[in-house]
Amino acid sequence: MIDDKTQQLILHRIHIALLGSGVHTAICYDLYSQGFFRTTQFEFLLLFGFFWVVNLSIYFVFRIGLNRQLRDPGLTFPLIVWALGTLLSTIYLTDHWRSVLLMITLLIMMFGAFRLFWYQFLYLIVSIIIVYAGIIIALYKFYPNLIDIPHEILTFLVFSFTLFCVSTLSWDFSKIRLNLKNRTYELEKALKIIELDSITDELTHVKNRRYVLDILNHQRLMVDRERTHTFAVCMLDLDNFKQINDAFGHGMGDIVLKAFCKEVELSLRKIDIFGRFGGEEFIVIAPFTDKAQVEILSERIRDSVEKMTIHHGGHLLKITVSVGASQYQWPESIEELLMRIDVALYESKNQGRNKVVVN
Ligand code: GH3
Ligand code: MG
Ligand code: MG
Repeated sequence: MIDDKTQQLILHRIHIALLGSGVHTAICYDLYSQGFFRTTQFEFLLLFGFFWVVNLSIYFVFRIGLNRQLRDPGLTFPLIVWALGTLLSTIYLTDHWRSVLLMITLLIMMFGAFRLFWYQFLYLIVSIIIVYAGIIIALYKFYPNLIDIPHEILTFLVFSFTLFCVSTLSWDFSKIRLNLKNRTYELEKALKIIELDSITDELTHVKNRRYVLDILNHQRLMVDRERTHTFAVCMLDLDNFKQINDAFGHGMGDIVLKAFCKEVELSLRKIDIFGRFGGEEFIVIAPFTDKAQVEILSERIRDSVEKMTIHHGGHLLKITVSVGASQYQWPESIEELLMRIDVALYESKNQGRNKVVVN
């Protein structure tokens, strides 16, 4: 299923194709009225009536979006085959100005070069040359007095050569365009990864200190703008973490930090921001949360960490976390808020660790 922007682009192309078809009809009508089109009025109306019923049906399919589900929503190949078919059939019916209509063939091929696979494109070139040769042969057979063979052979050779050149050039442009598109895509992908890396903590994959500070400042600006908005912050510090490193090694300490982050994330809402502030200290930013609610949240985190067990390399570890939390009080700065939370965290450590203190 394609997005609306792509559908708009496809519709734009369909409009151009319809315009082209209109120009083709106008040229043929002009040829017909000058007596250069080998049909009766009825046959002319029947032929172009058929062309336009199909054209408008195609337009209808695109207009109501039936094409959206298709593998190639632009229907490029069938539409180009249709356009070439209508054109070549009228080329057979014109005695003069055949070369004018042939020029439109080149235009259609240029259109296709940007969107077709190479084998579809090659198939079209070969088909056009064969069909055109067939037209000349048929004309020679059925209307020998209408055809000037040396002139037709020359036109055929020049046309085939021009078709080949235009197609090759268009194809080269198409390759450049495709390369550019792929490179832009790769660059955008790389940029997204870089952007994500710049706000992510390498070890735990939660947000990093820079991002946490940005969000804190942003939340403060929201309160500044809308005083009814409120947010709260918790600072989490693992208890006696140094002992884990000392007893089981730094690698085990890293595993514990990752397991801790996974556990905390389970206690949070989608709108909460969780980041590593440094070492074994983490921050939770809880938007639309007041003092009473942040106490409940902090307690939930503390409790779940206390209950978790970490199994690794035959060891079974249990950890606890101390939490200091507070609600933002306008107009204090983020530094002042963090200082108050730090005091609360210090207090929870003083009370014997594995505690929540809300300041
Ligand atoms: P307290 O309960 O008072 O917080 O004691 P603590 O041992 O947790 O605190 P302390 O500040 O004394 O030690 C923190 C330790 O965290 C020291 C440091 O080596 C360790 N640490 C910091 N960052 C990392 C890390 O990325 N990986 C590992 N394994 N350890 C880390
Ligand atoms: Mg600690
Ligand atoms: Mg610490």
